[in-house]
Amino acid sequence: MEKIRRTKVSDLLKSETFGTIVNARGWVRSRRGSKKVNFVALNDGSTINNLQIVVDVESFDEEIIKKITTGSCISVNGELVASQGKGQSAELQAKDIVILGEADNTYPLQKKGHTMEFLREIAHLRPRTNTFGAVFRIRHNMAMAVHDFFHKKGFYYFNAPLITSSDCEGAGEMFQVTTMNLYDLKKNEDGTINYDYDFFGKQAALTVSGQLEAELAAMSMGACYTFGPTFRAENSNTPRHLAEFWMIEPEMAFVEIDENMDLAEEFVKHCLKWALDNCMEDISFLNKMFDKELIERIHFVLEHDFKRLTYTEGVKILEEAVAKGHKFEYPVFWGADLASEHERYLVEDHFKRPVILTDYPKEIKSFYMKQNDDDKTVRAMDILFPKIGEIIGGSQREENLEKLEKRAKEMEVPTKDIWWYLDTRRYGTAPHSGFGLGFERLLLFVTGMTNIRDVIPFPRTPNNCEF
Ligand code: ATP
Ligand code: MN
Repeated sequence: MEKIRRTKVSDLLKSETFGTIVNARGWVRSRRGSKKVNFVALNDGSTINNLQIVVDVESFDEEIIKKITTGSCISVNGELVASQGKGQSAELQAKDIVILGEADNTYPLQKKGHTMEFLREIAHLRPRTNTFGAVFRIRHNMAMAVHDFFHKKGFYYFNAPLITSSDCEGAGEMFQVTTMNLYDLKKNEDGTINYDYDFFGKQAALTVSGQLEAELAAMSMGACYTFGPTFRAENSNTPRHLAEFWMIEPEMAFVEIDENMDLAEEFVKHCLKWALDNCMEDISFLNKMFDKELIERIHFVLEHDFKRLTYTEGVKILEEAVAKGHKFEYPVFWGADLASEHERYLVEDHFKRPVILTDYPKEIKSFYMKQNDDDKTVRAMDILFPKIGEIIGGSQREENLEKLEKRAKEMEVPTKDIWWYLDTRRYGTAPHSGFGLGFERLLLFVTGMTNIRDVIPFPRTPNNCEF
């Protein structure tokens, strides 16, 4: 076969240089047709659309044709011609075909219409489906949207460590990191484990958040953001929780809670607009196949201000709903941590738009949140989204050393491991704020997927660590 440099299917479909000989490579989605002419749908991941290859059966070896099976990988030289069929502009009239990789009839993606559960079991192959190709292209584009937003605003991309030794956030939710021989653990006299001989000489774990380190960066470089994996060993088997997920955590010096909310709202809207501007083919597919209101919902969020109210006001609305006969699974009262059903009631039933809840009871929020003068609430802000509930959690941080230390003690947070964090309050402290956006929660909203396992390539959840 004549050596021609490969052109991506996405470029070929846009091309109008009809009559030229080009090379396309990809995986066969299907082959159909008659004894005389076959139509091969070829996909190379560059777009959701397939390139149609027209094969004049009689001018090819029968053995080659037989091997053009669903799942096989082929390289085709052919003439780019204007497509007869509607929908796309170009197709390829095959001149020469090489089978790069065969796929026999054990290939699991033979026919369409597999369940999402089945596709999770073949996560190594599911990016070859239309659905997951679309989801993962959108995932890439959303990552670009994140960097674009912060870079243009003068934030620095700052990397927090994934292995940490401070357990002030994730009490009980952390994955331990050790090189010790678990069959022969060295113990202290009192029966506790002796970490002196462990890799780091102390107990270490995977991070649950890069926030504490991001605060250090903000208190030196002004504004920064992290964007990396975080880990939570929470044994909650829900459609919104992963044991390994990606979080975006901006942190800004000299910013108080209102500006923090403004930035969060602007940021989310930037990402949604980016999706509409850059991923419309994929989003349209998902809209058609999974969620007929997807595009409408994205537009709606873009075009409306998020409703801002306090936790106290929110709880009042929920209590009124209960009084009027609305049934929630979990009880709601001032002081309760709101469940997803409560958050979604406020968003979907009551305000019918995204909500930012502020000023939560201090007991249900972290020790580092700035305390209000009422001595009951802290300057937290959670952004709640339709279909999802909490998508962002943030706050103004307590910049006063004394108050911070007092609160840590009350909440039994071990501060001896975070002397470096307390130093920011000791030396040149300043008001500052930040928030965390769960990347996969954003993706749930943008793709219309209903299970968080379907917006990350290889989900990690309780009892699932395959691939
Ligand atoms: P939730 O109440 O939903 O468990 P959280 O209050 O524990 O969330 P934060 O600690 O505030 O969440 O984390 C910030 C953001 O990270 C959340 O708003 C959410 O978008 C995301 N997030 C938290 N936990 C998970 C998880 N297990 N899997 C995926 N995303 C998560
Ligand atoms: Mn949680």
